[in-house]
Amino acid sequence: MVNAPVQRMSQLMAKTLRDDPADAEVLSHKLLVRAGYVRRTAAGIWTWLPLGKKVLANVERIVREEMDAIGGQEVLLPALLPREPYEATGRWDEYGPELFRLQDRKGGDYLLGPTHEEIFTLIVKDQASSYKDLPVILYQIQTKFRDEARPRAGILRGREFLMKDSYSFDLADEGLAESYALHRVAYQRIFQRLGLDYRICAATAGAMGGSKSEEFLAPAGAGEDTFADCPSCDFAANTEAIAYELKPVDAADVPASEEIPTPDTPTIETLAASLGVPASATLKNLLVKVDGEIVAIGVPGDREVDMGKVEAHFAPAAVELVTADDFTDRPDLVRGYVGPQGLEKVRYIADPRVAPGTSWITGANKEHTHAKNVVAGRDFEVDAYVDVVVVQEGDPCPNCGAGLKLDRAIEIGHIFQLGRKYADALKLDVLGQNGKPVRVTMGSYGVGVSRAVAALAEQTADEHGLCWPKEVAPADVHVVAAGKALQIELALDVSQKLAAAGVRVLVDDRAGVSPGVKFTDAELIGVPQILVAGRRSAEGVLELKDRRTGEREELTVDEAIARLT
Ligand code: ATP
Ligand code: MG
Ligand code: MG
Ligand code: MG
Repeated sequence: MVNAPVQRMSQLMAKTLRDDPADAEVLSHKLLVRAGYVRRTAAGIWTWLPLGKKVLANVERIVREEMDAIGGQEVLLPALLPREPYEATGRWDEYGPELFRLQDRKGGDYLLGPTHEEIFTLIVKDQASSYKDLPVILYQIQTKFRDEARPRAGILRGREFLMKDSYSFDLADEGLAESYALHRVAYQRIFQRLGLDYRICAATAGAMGGSKSEEFLAPAGAGEDTFADCPSCDFAANTEAIAYELKPVDAADVPASEEIPTPDTPTIETLAASLGVPASATLKNLLVKVDGEIVAIGVPGDREVDMGKVEAHFAPAAVELVTADDFTDRPDLVRGYVGPQGLEKVRYIADPRVAPGTSWITGANKEHTHAKNVVAGRDFEVDAYVDVVVVQEGDPCPNCGAGLKLDRAIEIGHIFQLGRKYADALKLDVLGQNGKPVRVTMGSYGVGVSRAVAALAEQTADEHGLCWPKEVAPADVHVVAAGKALQIELALDVSQKLAAAGVRVLVDDRAGVSPGVKFTDAELIGVPQILVAGRRSAEGVLELKDRRTGEREELTVDEAIARLT
């Protein structure tokens, strides 16, 4: 093994800054720029300078080792991708303005990959033909592109960023569950080795179409997610994913739509109360089953409803289908209402197109077709399930009822059981044991590699600057020559000896820079051990300082080498 050369500050392309960059709002942004790790190239687009690149590479190495340990095979896909596969899955349109779309000189449509489910599906379709080829886990560590609306938080939310994304391919649901469990363990190891404080949080409501998804959230004030933590059981969930069981609606109890009285003051609170969810909750989405299949009834404008299914199911006499033209602008509309009988009608204040006094199903389908005079229980089966956003501290834990605690966090990883969505769209089958084709089931899993660097900075920094855990630090020891020629000579000498012993060394050998400035820079840069050649250099005595605790002790060169190797 070749030992890493000593990194000399006198030659390092890394300028420390005294002041925070003017546009920086979060700590990691300020410190990573000030300590010379990164530079902003454009909004949400970053350059990694030598020290930053070292930290990034360390995170990558840990991620790679743990992905390899669960049998993941590393590949590298292009970032520049053709439109067609994304057209086939509908994501070319669905992804919205976050997708960077571009054209080549011939007018062909391309995109810069925000995530790679489609292409991985096609790779496996090309490479795997029989059940013997599965299960398989493929991964890459690659630059991703998302035109984020507000790339404010520095490295935390880039428009170009580094992600580890992996994809599992299995024959059966049990296999998918196993691949998912393997990733869950790998992620626990990764974040533990990185030294990140994190929680595993439910990211989707459990009963949602059978799919399972969890987020790894790193508590930090700069985080853009809010998660709820239960102090008395192990429940932890992104507030976006907290689900409460609704009281099931008994069809016999639901009156015909003509008999439904218009309530005097129907409010979202009325609905919440009769569903048994906290009044502070915001109803997001009711899941409704028609003929055993889930069609969403809910959030105006943001869920697809298959109106074909709805139309086919409802008795035409009872249900009137209306179009956008039929809706009037009525700001007094309520968002939902549950009468004494249970769920009787659902209407939305946020959707001004719906006339009052009607129950209806709406969806974001292209015709804006809505079904009018639909009665829950009579015309459709309510799946007795709702997504809610808990907006207040102390709301009851869905598991045990104890008051939830709310905290801000950074999403550092996300694991997801996709099921057959992509395999269906791109027709990914392999031949099963009986010679018949089997549709493959998939999972997708992401770690924000560049984001993890910033999350670590957020969690570990103190008032003096960055303060890296050993495994990711850009060096093991920062040797400071606090003085002139004598100190510089000793610092370089001990640095060479340490490097020869396999220690990663950064040495501040700058001439003409005061010891005070060098100490401040060493604290800002945040290497875990600081070794100072100062006043007692003539005797060959150095001072070793622990960056985190500030503890100091005097050591000879040999003692220092013994201590640091
Ligand atoms: P967010 O909610 O923060 O926008 P996401 O849910 O859109 O993230 P995923 O699609 O789940 O992100 O991607 C997997 C991982 O990639 C995330 O858990 C996160 O760590 C990282 N990531 C996502 N977007 C960014 C970004 N803009 N900059 C840096 N890392 C990101
Ligand atoms: Mg996002
Ligand atoms: Mg997210
Ligand atoms: Mg996510």
